[in-house]
Amino acid sequence: MLPVIALVGRPNVGKSTLFNRLSKTRNALVAEHAGLTRDRQYAEAKWQGRRYILIDTGGISGEEVGIDAKMAEQSWLAIDEADLVLLLLDSRDGLTAADQMLADGLRKRGKRCLLVANKIDSVNPDIARAEFSALSLGEVLPISAAHGRGIAALLEIALAGF
Ligand code: GDP
Ligand code: MG
Repeated sequence: MLPVIALVGRPNVGKSTLFNRLSKTRNALVAEHAGLTRDRQYAEAKWQGRRYILIDTGGISGEEVGIDAKMAEQSWLAIDEADLVLLLLDSRDGLTAADQMLADGLRKRGKRCLLVANKIDSVNPDIARAEFSALSLGEVLPISAAHGRGIAALLEIALAGF
């Protein structure tokens, strides 16, 4: 069974940008193959010969109503399916209440999780590290999903546990 990694975070932190960068083949059959729920965005990805399944989620802000609430619910279901969660954070915005809420939810579920500080192309990575380490969910990995910075270091750590 391939490891399943979910990209989680509030809207606009860069989940889909990272998903697109990491997933070369988007395979509609991935979900079926791995016994996962079909109605989510999955891709089979590969890094240095190691294959894994990536899930993109719609985003959770903690203040959803209507269709957004459904999306948030779907995101939590994706989290339950995952072996590892990458909690994406926006280094430009800094730490928000929604990030805190998500971190608490992940902690409660006992999910293995990495903190990923995105958009460090416009922020000092050390400042992002210091800011987000307050979430106390482990190491903060600074990346730029848009520019491809920090991706190799992230994958090295993410896949090391499998
Ligand atoms: P999602 O809602 O979490 O899936 O976020 P998206 O991937 O759709 O990205 C939201 C916005 O952030 C878009 O305008 C992206 O171009 C931008 N973005 C994503 N990653 C980066 C990054 O590494 N650096 C910068 N500066 N912008 C980014
Ligand atoms: Mg998205």
